[in-house]
Amino acid sequence: MPAPSLAEQDIRCSFCAKPKNEVAKLIAGAGVFICNECVQLCAEMLKEIAESEAAPAAQSVPTAELPEIPEVPWPDAMTDEEILDFLPRIASVGAQVDANLKVWVERLRDRGVTWARIGAALGTTRQSAWEKFSGEE
Ligand SMILES: [Zn+2]
Repeated sequence: MPAPSLAEQDIRCSFCAKPKNEVAKLIAGAGVFICNECVQLCAEMLKEIAESEAAPAAQSVPTAELPEIPEVPWPDAMTDEEILDFLPRIASVGAQVDANLKVWVERLRDRGVTWARIGAALGTTRQSAWEKFSGEE
């Protein structure tokens, strides 16, 4: 059975975990998705970083204060209940990464790549790769 197309899958943004029906656009990457809102936020963050790096030394933020990998900000005001409600969304992002990995493995199988090579690439055995991705018993 072929994997469902992206349009058929219940996908969500890997950054903010919003489902596709709550955002205007989703862009697919290798196992991840990003929504138009997160792209905009990241573009603004990159612009601020570039401006900080281009600013004269006296005005710029000391390098030690800039995180090496900037993080999309989360509201500090989230209550425990809001965070608990958010956990399933984060878990489903992990599940969609696994589902997308299966699609990539199917692409390799369609090209005739062996389970041994796929297992080796994933740091596992041929048997483990087959059991996880073949869909056969
Ligand atoms: Zn997003």
